[in-house]
Amino acid sequence: MEEKMTVLVTGGSGMLGYALQKVIKEKKRPGEEWIFIGSKDADLREIDETRTIFEKHMPTHVIHLAAIVGGVFKNMKNTCDILLTNQKINLNVYQVCKEIKVKKLISCLSTCVYPDKITYPITESMLHDGPPHPSNFGYSFAKRSIDAMNKCYRWQYGCPFVSVIPTSIYGPNDIFSVEDAHVIPGLINKVRMCKRANTPLVVWGTGKPLRQFIFSYDLAQLVIWAIREYDEEDNIFLSVDEKDEISIRELVEVIVEEYGFKGEVVFDDTKTDGQYKKTVSTAKLRKYLPDFKFTPIREGIRETIRWFEDNYDIART
Ligand code: GDP
Repeated sequence: MEEKMTVLVTGGSGMLGYALQKVIKEKKRPGEEWIFIGSKDADLREIDETRTIFEKHMPTHVIHLAAIVGGVFKNMKNTCDILLTNQKINLNVYQVCKEIKVKKLISCLSTCVYPDKITYPITESMLHDGPPHPSNFGYSFAKRSIDAMNKCYRWQYGCPFVSVIPTSIYGPNDIFSVEDAHVIPGLINKVRMCKRANTPLVVWGTGKPLRQFIFSYDLAQLVIWAIREYDEEDNIFLSVDEKDEISIRELVEVIVEEYGFKGEVVFDDTKTDGQYKKTVSTAKLRKYLPDFKFTPIREGIRETIRWFEDNYDIART
C-alpha cells in the first residue's frame, strides 16, 4: 500500500513551485495529494494567516519554498528587508508545522549562503564554518537560521525538519528582471532587448566566476524524491556534478547562441562578480541517485528562452 501523503508546497507559484507542478502531473503516485500555495493564498509573514492555511489543508508533508529572493544586486540593495521578511516567513511556517505535527518538512537553502572563504568542493556540513559573502549577507543569515531551526526543533521537540540545498537554479517562470534577477533570467531578458534595439549586450562583472546551474525541472524531480525518500537528519546538496560547473563567460556564449544574438558582447568589470565560485560536492546525492541524468545547460537554456518568448506578456520582469 502506498503511504497517504498530503504535500503542501509554499512558494508554489515561484520558479521551483511551477516546475514541481509540471513534474508532479506526470509523477504523482496514488495516495498523494499535492497542494501549491502562493502569496495570493496567504501572507506567510503573518502567523494567523499561516496557521489558517495550514489548518485548512492539514498537510502530512511540507515543502517550504516561499522566500524573498533575488540576484546579487537585489540582495545588496535590500539586505535588511530580505533578512527580516524571510525570517518572519520561516518562523511562522516552522511553528505551524510543529503545531500540526507534520511528518516531514523540507525547506530550501542555497549554496550561496555558505562561507565565502572555504575549501572546495564544499560539503553539506560546512554551512557555519565562516561568514557568507557580503553581497548576500541578509539572505544568508535568514537561510542559515533555517538550518538552526531544523536542528533545534529536532533536538528539543523531535520534529522531522531538514533542508535540501540547490545550487544556482534557472528555468521557466523565473523572475526575468534586468536589474534584480539572477544571471540567467537577467541576461535572457537583456539579450532580448539588445537584439531588438540592436545594441551591445553588457554583461556584469568579469565573466570569470564559476557556477553549477541546475535546471528547475531537474531540481523538481530531486525535491520530489527527497520528500518521499530522504530521511537523514542532515541536509543534502541538490546540484549538477563538479564537472558541469561553467563560467559566466561560457554561460553568456550559450545564451547568445541559443537566442541568435549577433551583436557585440561587453563585460563591465566595474560591476561586482559576487562570489568567485561555490563549487559543491555531489558525493552524498550520488550515493543515493548514481544514475540521475541532469538536463545539459544548453537544452535547459533553450527551454527557458522558449518559455520566456512564449510567455513574455505574463513573465515577471
Ligand atoms: P550569485 O550566483 O548569487 O552571485 O547571483 P547572480 O546570479 O546574480 O550572479 C552570478 C554572476 O553573474 C555574478 O558574477 C554576476 O556579476 C554575473 N552577471 C553577469 N551579468 C549579470 C546580470 O545581468 N545579472 C546578474 N544578476 N548577474 C550577472
